[in-house]
Amino acid sequence: MKYNSIAGVRVSQIGFGAEWMESKTYDEVKEMVDCCCDNGVNLLDCWMSDPMVRSNLGKAIRDNRKYWRIQGHIGSTWQNNQYVRTRQMDKVKEAFSDLLERLNTDYIDFGMIHYVDEVTEYDEIINGEFMEYVYKLKDDETIHHIGLSTHNPVVAMKAAMNEDIELIMISANPAFDMMPPVVLDDYFDKDKYDDSLNKLQPIRNKLYQLCEDTDTSITVMKPFAGGRLLNENDSPFETALTPVQCIHYALTRPSSKSVLVGVENVDELGMALSYMDASNEDRDYNRILATAKKHSFMGSCTYCGHCSPCPSEINIAMVNKFYDLAVIHDTIPSSIAEHYENLAVHADSCIGCGECMTRCPFGVDIVDLMSRTRELFGY
Ligand code: SF4
Ligand code: SF4
Repeated sequence: MKYNSIAGVRVSQIGFGAEWMESKTYDEVKEMVDCCCDNGVNLLDCWMSDPMVRSNLGKAIRDNRKYWRIQGHIGSTWQNNQYVRTRQMDKVKEAFSDLLERLNTDYIDFGMIHYVDEVTEYDEIINGEFMEYVYKLKDDETIHHIGLSTHNPVVAMKAAMNEDIELIMISANPAFDMMPPVVLDDYFDKDKYDDSLNKLQPIRNKLYQLCEDTDTSITVMKPFAGGRLLNENDSPFETALTPVQCIHYALTRPSSKSVLVGVENVDELGMALSYMDASNEDRDYNRILATAKKHSFMGSCTYCGHCSPCPSEINIAMVNKFYDLAVIHDTIPSSIAEHYENLAVHADSCIGCGECMTRCPFGVDIVDLMSRTRELFGY
């Protein structure tokens, strides 16, 4: 494993994005944590608010907490059994205390201001009581460094110019970096996607350069675009990239210090870790970029979970995932049918309120997708 420094903290170039641990047992989580330790992975991102996954991770790292560098998110809360991103301070504080308690720790290395995609919201946070709370956490050393997570390079640039923010976690991969600037409303404007996906967007390059200039570190999320870049049917490039190529792309952005790979099991982690021994030829993604065709991820689910909460308590990301896995087969594989059945609430509980769609950064027509899922699975 190779390491980089974020504000003087040594972090592994490949980090553990633990969101897929939500549906796992403690033993499965422990296996992943041990595999990370055995291979030198020491950066853990925990944005999830689900108490079970927090507790499982906390129990798994309890005996070597000091080994881990943790990105813990401020503003990710658990309400009525669902993830809710909020700026309501009583909820924010309660959820962050819960994170500390469940992770069995009294400090978080990188306190991440959670998921800010709109400039106005960024300004409100920075100038309001949310930031006062973040500063208090820093002053009493509950968090050691301040970070921010976003999908929007415009917000990321504002954060990079804020000298108190030392780390930005942003979604980055060859396809996303070819998307036009993305204040949230632009995601819903099809005309913004008229250009070919054949060059990196200037604002991305500006962001990376700015981070270099301001000594702001970047950690990368969604390096595989929710797995779509790894599948030729889903990839905008109409050919599959490998995990190694995606990781190389992410790690070679200026100021990029670590790639948080979202992996479900040790086999997937092993594929990501193979990056460390890969040849330059195996890492080369340029031949794919050179043949990029017009496409966008607009309308495609990346299973990020940001559309929660749902008044019917549907786990929308999981429903979408099982739909996507099932629909490519002539008949639904029994394993996928069983996973879908095991969900607490199914697509037929959707009341079509559309609340989720206002929160989806990728403009997914969730109401339609719920309807198609209901038809496919029968409930
Ligand atoms: S449209 Fe359906 S899935 Fe979306 S929040 Fe409303 S009930 Fe939930
Ligand atoms: S519907 Fe949108 S917000 Fe919800 S999981 Fe998919 S991409 Fe994320």
